[in-house]
Parts: sequence; C-alpha cells; structure tokens
Amino acid sequence: MNTKTIWSDTVKMPAFPPLSGDVRVHTAIIGGGIAGLLTAWFLKQQGISALVLEADRLCAGQTGRTTAKITSQHDLIYADLINRLGEDSAGQYAQANEAAVAEYARIIDRGRIRCDFTPCEAYLYSRTEASVLMQEAEAARKLGIAAAFTRDSELPFPIAGALRFSGQARFHPLKFLRAVAEDLDVREHTRVLAVEDDRIQAEGGTVTAEHIVFACHYPFVNVPGWYFARMHQERSYVLALQSAWLPRQVHLGVDGDGLSLREAEGLLLLGGGSHRTGENPEGGRYEALRAAARTLFPGSREVGCWSAQDCVTVDRIPCIGSYARSQPRWYVATGFAKWGMTSAMVSARILSGMIAGGVPDWAEVFSPQRPVLSQDNMKPLMDEAGHALRNLARVTPAPRCTHLGCETVWNPDTESWDCPCHGSRFDRKGRLLDGPAQKKCDIKV
Ligand SMILES: Cc1cc2nc3c(=O)[nH]c(=O)nc-3n(C[C@H](O)[C@H](O)[C@H](O)COP(=O)(O)OP(=O)(O)OC[C@H]3O[C@@H](n4cnc5c(N)ncnc54)[C@H](O)[C@@H]3O)c2cc1C
Repeated sequence: MNTKTIWSDTVKMPAFPPLSGDVRVHTAIIGGGIAGLLTAWFLKQQGISALVLEADRLCAGQTGRTTAKITSQHDLIYADLINRLGEDSAGQYAQANEAAVAEYARIIDRGRIRCDFTPCEAYLYSRTEASVLMQEAEAARKLGIAAAFTRDSELPFPIAGALRFSGQARFHPLKFLRAVAEDLDVREHTRVLAVEDDRIQAEGGTVTAEHIVFACHYPFVNVPGWYFARMHQERSYVLALQSAWLPRQVHLGVDGDGLSLREAEGLLLLGGGSHRTGENPEGGRYEALRAAARTLFPGSREVGCWSAQDCVTVDRIPCIGSYARSQPRWYVATGFAKWGMTSAMVSARILSGMIAGGVPDWAEVFSPQRPVLSQDNMKPLMDEAGHALRNLARVTPAPRCTHLGCETVWNPDTESWDCPCHGSRFDRKGRLLDGPAQKKCDIKV
C-alpha cells in the first residue's frame, strides 16, 4: 500500500517520455529522486547536460514521501562523530550539511522558486533527559554550528530540554523539484536493468555514458561496491493532521517514541514508528501514531498517512563519491539515514565536482572508500552479515526476495512483503515497490 501524500496531492510534476533506442551521453544519472535531480541540475550549471533515467515517475521513490526538513541537525550525531572520527572529519560533516542548507536558500532565492521555503529553527527534544542534549549542543558548537541547549519550547507538552539549531528550513519538496526538473533531460518509465562499464541496458534501449551516477536510492549493482553488506533500510510512518496545534519550527524527539513534527500545507505532519524494514510483523505503527495524536493533539483529524524508508550505513555516514575503485567513472549517492534533503545537496555538490571539476573541501568524510572496517564498525558489519544469513536460512511459505533470495516478512501496516536483509519491498501481487531488488517476486502464499 503506497499511499498518496500531501506533496503529490498539491503538485503535478512535469512528465517526460521513456527512453527509445540507443543513445550516447556525457553523463547518465540513474534515479529521478532528489539526489539525481539535484546532481543533474548542478552539472547543467557547469555546462554538462546529463540524462536522468527514472524507472517510474520523477520523485515516485522516497523523495515523494519525505517530511522535507532541511537541516544539519541529524538526530544525535555530532558528539558521536567527534568521538569516533575526531573533530576534523566531524567538522567536514557539519560544514557540508550547513552549506547544504545555505545552498537551498541561494538556489531558491536566485531562481525565485515558489516552494514554501521557510527559514526556521530545528529542535531535538527529550521529555525525560536533558544531559545528552547538552553534550550534543557542546559538540555541535565546537564544529561551528549555531547550537544551544534550552528548556524553552513551543511544543504544547512538557519537555526536559531541547537542542536548538538556528538557520535551518523546511519546504515543499515537490514544488522545489518541479522547478529543478523543468529544463533537465529526463526519461521516465525507464528502468535500468544492467550496467557494464560505460554501457547501461535499460527498458527501451541502451545508454553509453562517460560517467554514470547511481542515484537510485539503493545502489543495486552488488559487485563491485558491496553496498548491500554495509547498510540496511529503516521505515517510518507519517500522519497528516488537520485542526491540530501547528509548530513554527521543526522538531524531533530523541526518546524511544522519536516523534517528528513540522507544519506543511496548514497541517501538522506527525512522524514516527521507525523500525528496520522487514521487522514489523505485528504492525500497529500507524495506530501508535494515532494514539499519540489523540493524547497530544486532542480534536485533531487525520487527513492523510504514508510511510517511507531510507538506507542507513554501518557508520551512519552517507556514501557519496566513487562507486568502487575498479569503476572510476561510476559514482554513488546513498545511505542518507533519513536526512536526504541536505545529503542530496551534499551529493550533488560532490558528484558534480568529481565529474565537472571543483570537489568541495569537505567531501572526504563521505567517501565510499573510507575504511569502514574499523573496530567501531566491526560489530554493525557482523550484525548485517548475521541478519542476512539468518533470513536466507529461514524456510517458510513467505515469498523470497529477488535481490539475494532472503525470505520476506508481511508488513500489515503497508500491506507489503518486506525483506529484512536489505529492505526490498513487494506488494501482495509480488510487484516491486522498493529496491535494491529490481524484479517482481513470486507469490505462492
Ligand atoms: C518517513 C521519512 C521522513 C523523512 N523526512 C526527512 C526530512 O524531514 N528531512 C530530510 O532531510 N530527509 C528526510 N527523509 C529522507 C529523505 O526523504 C530521503 O533520504 C531522500 O528522499 C532520498 O532521496 P533519493 O533521491 O536518494 O531516493 P529516491 O527519492 O527514492 O529516488 C531514487 C529514484 O531512483 C529510481 N530507481 C530505482 N531503481 C532504478 C533503476 N533500476 N532504474 C531507474 N531508476 C531507478 C526510483 O524509482 C526513485 O525514483 C525522510 C525519510 C523518511 C523515511
């Protein structure tokens, strides 16, 4: 069940024809979500016309189901990054994402793009514990972010404390991307089936390209790259509420419930219920959100609900850069960990820089070739491998995923068969909903 969102309800995206025949281009970009479109847009500013190949319609993937907060406040991350990587690398991460927020403001202002872009503050809040937010405030400040711990909050319920980042924003993602896509070269309904060196085999024809960007959310070529071994996917749920209290700022809870709050189109977007994709056999995620809405916002009325998922790497840092050493002209943007608005802007700047010249100073921390086999990451890497092996070994009548053959699990909330290994999803008829799988699966149950 892929439900409509308030974004797609309020915007009609431009339509593009499918690929037909064989073409040769400078750069091909696989995926027409925010990462692919922004990369194509940056290349165009540098005089390179890239061809975007989209399996479905533009923004039909996760971008169409985001909550679109534009912020460098990526949950609790900076104290952890300093601790694991040191101040230099953590500083690159902070700088890249702060620059991304500023870049949105610049592009939207210059292009006079009407996309409800609203500067605001971003808050992390806790209802139980303040100390972790104080530590995070200190870490973020050390890295140059305008961060402060506070006990003041606009939230209509009591909190123990909050962490404020100034100079952040929110917008309507599809209004923005409609404008971005306008002058780009795009082929919709064109799934890429295989990639070999400089040749892309797609539905409708082939594309030969000097440079190939994988902006397809989950990079589906398993070898080289091995992305399936170093990330998993997490799914979350959103309610759109009418007649609810409306926040001026954007908020995210750091306690167990992890509620996300922002205003859009005069509605309150209430998000939460996060779990590893493929691990929701009991369901009840929407119900839990509805219960929270009844308690926190009595009198509010649900007018929409949807869910989405994102890739999370073992070290929680996106992989943006060269796909693999053996394919120097393949590039990747993935692992945005539910912070894809700024991460996509970071990707567009790094990848357009690698292709056209001018890689930003802060690119290194995102390199997919960074050493992930450090002691810190050993456990999550082993967990990923263990997870996959357990689900490969299970034998029940549930359908098998067409990516690497793991057994899927029924998710009653989304009415889909979800793969607990790498997060592919299929509807009740076996039709593909989300990758890395690229083919439908057989349903025998
Ligand atoms: C519930 C939720 C809320 C979120 N809220 C926020 C937020 O407030 N702020 C924030 O910064 N981030 C947020 N995120 C994260 C953000 O939405 C994502 O990181 C981002 O949209 C991912 O963009 P993308 O371009 O990488 O992927 P997508 O938007 O999924 O685009 C990839 C595209 O590639 C296409 N594709 C796949 N395979 C192929 C193929 N073989 N050939 C051709 N095309 C292909 C797909 O059809 C798709 O359109 C949220 C995530 C979730 C789950």
